This record gives sequence, C-alpha cells and structure tokens, in this order.
Amino acid sequence: MLSKIIAEEAISQSEKLLKKHNKIAIITHISPDGDALGSSLGLYWFLKELEKEVVVVVPNPFPNFLRWLDGSSDIVIFTENRELAEQKIKEAELVFFLDFNTMNRIDGLKNIAIDAQGDKILIDHHPHPDIFCNVKISHPEVSSTSELIFRFICRMGLFPKITLPAAECIYAGMMTDTGNFSFNSQSPEIYSIIHELLLLGINKDEIYRKVYDTCSADKMKLMGYCLSEKMQIFPEQKAAIISLTLQELEQFNYQVGDSEGFVNMPLSIENIEISIFVRQDKDKIKISFRSQGDYPVNKMAEDFKGGGHLNAAGGESYYSMEKTLTLLEEAVLHREKYENME
Ligand code: 5GP
Ligand code: MN
Repeated sequence: MLSKIIAEEAISQSEKLLKKHNKIAIITHISPDGDALGSSLGLYWFLKELEKEVVVVVPNPFPNFLRWLDGSSDIVIFTENRELAEQKIKEAELVFFLDFNTMNRIDGLKNIAIDAQGDKILIDHHPHPDIFCNVKISHPEVSSTSELIFRFICRMGLFPKITLPAAECIYAGMMTDTGNFSFNSQSPEIYSIIHELLLLGINKDEIYRKVYDTCSADKMKLMGYCLSEKMQIFPEQKAAIISLTLQELEQFNYQVGDSEGFVNMPLSIENIEISIFVRQDKDKIKISFRSQGDYPVNKMAEDFKGGGHLNAAGGESYYSMEKTLTLLEEAVLHREKYENME
C-alpha cells in the first residue's frame, strides 16, 4: 500500500474536473526529457482509457531515444505545428501542466497556456511552483513526475485503468529521472510501484536498452571528444565543466538529445561533487548543473536565469561562450557562496 502523499482535497477536485470535462490537453516542458514524456504519455493513455479526447502538446522536438514510447507519434510539437498546438490548447476544457513549475519552461507555449480558458491541473516535482492552477499537485520530495502520475491514478482508485503502454511510459519516466535508480531513488515505495508495473507486464530491461543503448556512433564520438578534449577539472572545488560550441556540435552531426546525460559523466570521477555542461544552441547557451550529496546546484543555476532541484538544475546564457565560461568558472571558484542559501 502506497502512502497517501497527494492531498485528499486535490484528488477530489481532480475527480470532479475529470468527470466534468471531455477535451483534455497535456503540456510539458521545453526539450522534453524521459520524465516529461513518460508522465505526459502515461497520463495520456490513462485518460484514453477513460474515453477522453486527449492530446499531448510539447514546445519543441524530443530526442530519438524517446520515440519508441507508445503515443509519441501523436504528440503535437509546437515548433512544427504552431496552429494545431494553439488550437488544441485553446479548445481544451481541461489542461494538465506536467513536470514544470514556471511558465518560462514551456517557451513558445507560455502565452497560449496562460490565456487558456480551460480548468488547469499542475502535477510536478520541482520546488516552488508559481503557476496559477485550479489544482496544484506539487511534490518536490517525489523523484519523478511519472511516479506522481502513478500515485495520482491510484489515489483516485483507478489503478485498473493503467494499461501496458501507460505502465511503460511511467516506468521510462521514473527510470530516466533517477539515472536508472542510481540517485533520488532511496524511497522504498519506488520499488513497490515498479513491482506493480512489472505485474502489468512491462519489460524493464528492454526499456533500459531502448533508452540507453540506442545511441548513434556520432553521439558516442562526441562523448569521447568531450571527455578527452573538453573537460576542465577544478580539483580544489571538486568540480568539472564541459562545454561544446555550435561548431563542435556540427562537426559531430549533432542531433537533438545527443548530449543527454553528458553532464552526469564527470560525477563518476572520484571526489567530483559538481558537474556543469554548457552547450551552445542557435539562440542561446544552455547550461546543465548536477551535484552529488547536499550541494545545491539549483542555487548556482539561479545566477544563470534558471533553477531546478538540489542535485539537478539548468539555466541559460545569452553572452558569448567565452564570457559564459568565465562566469561559470567564477561561480565554481566561489562555490561556497551558494551553500546554505535560502
Ligand atoms: P537539464 O539539465 O536536464 O536540462 O535539467 C535538469 C533540471 O533542471 C530539469 O529537470 C529542470 O528542473 C531544471 N531546469 C533545466 N533548465 C532550466 C531552466 O532554464 N530554468 C529552470 N527554472 N529550471 C531548469
Ligand atoms: Mn522530472
């Protein structure tokens, strides 16, 4: 039996909204990752079982290694089909916001989502959500939004409505947001949920292979290049920074998602507690932060227009690569500044 972490009030309000509405849109964050898509498609399949008219809308394309997720080909991608994305959100009677805590995280969908007339339910695990919603299910202590989707469905007494595709999506999200259950994964209840998902028929080893063992030769070479040529270590600060320019990415025929997971690599080095990965995109520089233990990288990310969790955060920069790296090095050299920050 799972503990009832989602408040009774949130469940009863959600039940009412689900009873009342038929047309539903699910929105998740920019550069959707495994948890963003896993939670969205998990909920999508569940709502389809309830015979709802449901659509998942994302701000921009997602990586190839998530294309195997059942339902991913039905997703409306805003940058590829702006009119349809806008229409679906406008006509939705109920909109779910999954896996993000602030509207800036949905990029071009922000104003459309703010203007949406439908009722709104947020389900997320990032701290301090600032989104206006009828129902807010926000649990930073839970390791993935996908886990919250499982709990949400079970709390409504609708576990029998979880089909195999939904179970696979939920598992994929739980797996990716915990690095295959290697961080944020101490809660025994995670494994009770996995037990249930296995009984529903998921093949966890196959899901692992589909997500982690399907990378291209180009990606593997880019990874090697990062480690051998581009990793800067700060031994005293127990930190590492890896950066890639647009030119370098092009050299390795970069595809969306190819640098996924690179930020975690330096954490495998003994005594490295902070890892930063910097990638130049066409319009901005994207920065990923990771840490081990109780070092709050989300505080460091706040200095770079971002935020996130204690051990995983992100931000962005509109300066040159050179200036961005200088600022990041300064942040690393003064790492203690971000400790014990409120
Ligand atoms: P990633 O490095 O994988 O892009 O992001 C890791 C985590 O950091 C995400 O789950 C999200 O919580 C947070 N994050 C990433 N980028 C941003 C950003 O630009 N702004 C904020 N507020 N959070 C971010
Ligand atoms: Mn997540």
